[in-house]
Amino acid sequence: MEGSCLCGAVTVHTPDSTSVDACHCGMCRRWGGGPALGVSGGTDVGIDGAEAMRMYRSSEWAERAFCGTCGTHLYYKLLPTGEYFVPVGLFQDGEPFAFKEQIFIDRKPDFYAFANPTHDLTEAEVFARYLPPEEPAPGT
Ligand SMILES: [Zn+2]
Ligand SMILES: [Zn+2]
Repeated sequence: MEGSCLCGAVTVHTPDSTSVDACHCGMCRRWGGGPALGVSGGTDVGIDGAEAMRMYRSSEWAERAFCGTCGTHLYYKLLPTGEYFVPVGLFQDGEPFAFKEQIFIDRKPDFYAFANPTHDLTEAEVFARYLPPEEPAPGT
């Protein structure tokens, strides 16, 4: 799949994926103004226009990239696994997306809720899935 930022300076290439996940953690909500809706790009993600990109190391285990010109969020990268999560809004060529999972569901504020039937994971369940067990569970 191919997605691009608002100004067109950066294009992100990912393998085909139809599953959309939402993250309700405090960092994603602060980063984007609301829950992050993304697709997993696996570890095989290509970038055109990387020189226009800016990077923010948001925690010891992740970095977040955005376009330095228009500010569009380009990806969240989980450093221990090299896995990318790419905002679904970058892809607007009619991909057949389905909303599958919500993570950090216990961090979601009460003022909104998605009606879609999804598989939901709490913060503890997310860390158990993505981080090595010897790591102390970090805050969001
Ligand atoms: Zn841009
Ligand atoms: Zn998050």
